[in-house]
Amino acid sequence: MIRYLPTLHNSQNLADVIKKYPLAITPYYASLIQRSDTSDPIFQMCVPQPDELFSPSWLSEDPLEENEDMPVPGLVHRYPDRALVIVTTTCASYCRHCTRKRIAGTRECTISARRLQQVTDYLLAHPEISDVIISGGDPLTMPTDAIEAVLSSIHSVESVQVIRVGTRVPVVLPMRITAELVEMLRKYHPLWINTHFNHPNELTPESADACNRLADAGIPLGNQTVLLRGVNDSAQIIEQLCRGLIRMRVRPYYLYQCDLVRGIEHFRTPLSRGIEIIEYMKGRVSGIAIPSFIVDTPHGGGKIPIMPNYIVSMSPTHTVLRNYEGLMVNYPEPEIKTLPKPQDEQVQPLKAGVWELAVGKASIIQPVNMARNERRREIVEKRKKTPTPDGSFLFDL
Ligand SMILES: *Cc1c(COP(=O)(O)O)cnc(C)c1O
Ligand code: SF4
Repeated sequence: MIRYLPTLHNSQNLADVIKKYPLAITPYYASLIQRSDTSDPIFQMCVPQPDELFSPSWLSEDPLEENEDMPVPGLVHRYPDRALVIVTTTCASYCRHCTRKRIAGTRECTISARRLQQVTDYLLAHPEISDVIISGGDPLTMPTDAIEAVLSSIHSVESVQVIRVGTRVPVVLPMRITAELVEMLRKYHPLWINTHFNHPNELTPESADACNRLADAGIPLGNQTVLLRGVNDSAQIIEQLCRGLIRMRVRPYYLYQCDLVRGIEHFRTPLSRGIEIIEYMKGRVSGIAIPSFIVDTPHGGGKIPIMPNYIVSMSPTHTVLRNYEGLMVNYPEPEIKTLPKPQDEQVQPLKAGVWELAVGKASIIQPVNMARNERRREIVEKRKKTPTPDGSFLFDL
């Protein structure tokens, strides 16, 4: 590896890092490295860094307390209707930012037939579980027949309505998505795949082909990105990533805040960065390209969606909402007899404050320089120039 990444010569404690958190990089993924230092996002995500040994007191191996929610070893049952099954500890490449650093690569093994039976028995005993997530490690590193053994066993449980596979293989080893693998996967519909692209540099012709093969087999594709300091913690990078993903028929699903996992602290960003990114994207970027920003909380609290605030104020009669442009409007609530009626008298919009919106005295406050207003003015001008006989402008194509 040193031969290909000459800058690592000086990294004294890399061996200590690798002893604790193993190293694996596929040749394909290594080929995406453009600069062999930490200014390169791909480098950061796959090459071990001394920072991984930083261990302040607020970190732990398993902050999501997955181990506590395992009625069967490897099966995490946290939410009422779904369960997650860890079927292997092996990955094609080991991500330095992995949230399961306690498991991934520590010893490479896959689920035994006995354990798979226990998992299946648990699912049979818990018909409320309708959605099973096959995870790891990376399930698609397993031989096709071993993956099939898992899928067919779980698929055989009648109460399981959907199977999801979580995999980073389309990103780090896209050539593993072979016709043979896809033919096997499509037998277990409805099967969904969530993959893990983090940076636009990972969107290559090879990964696009892999996603195409899966999508062509009718497998809906989602993406889970982790927000990583120095890698993708900017609104423009996430925008570029998400726009690229929808072109590849991959729906951005979650944008995760980095977990409080030991060994990945150097990747963690303030929560505000995620909010800032969503603030930038909402309204400006196609809705199908915007993921939900999620904090998977310590103490096993599970996933919590975090959003910028769009509710500015409320009264019993009106809710004051603001949009991405900073436009504030009152949204009148349905009339309920016991509530006081909204006030009729209107005040001048420009003289109104938030309170006037909240009690219905005004219906809008708008920023002076809204780009949308300029477009509206242009439309009005255009219509003036080409009026229709009856004065209507809609659908006069
Ligand atoms: C993330 C996760 C799920 C799936 O959550 P969704 O919000 O449905 O995608 C299920 N179980 C566990 C333990 C999880 O961590
Ligand atoms: S592929 Fe997933 S499980 Fe494996 S190291 Fe990367 S993030 Fe962790």
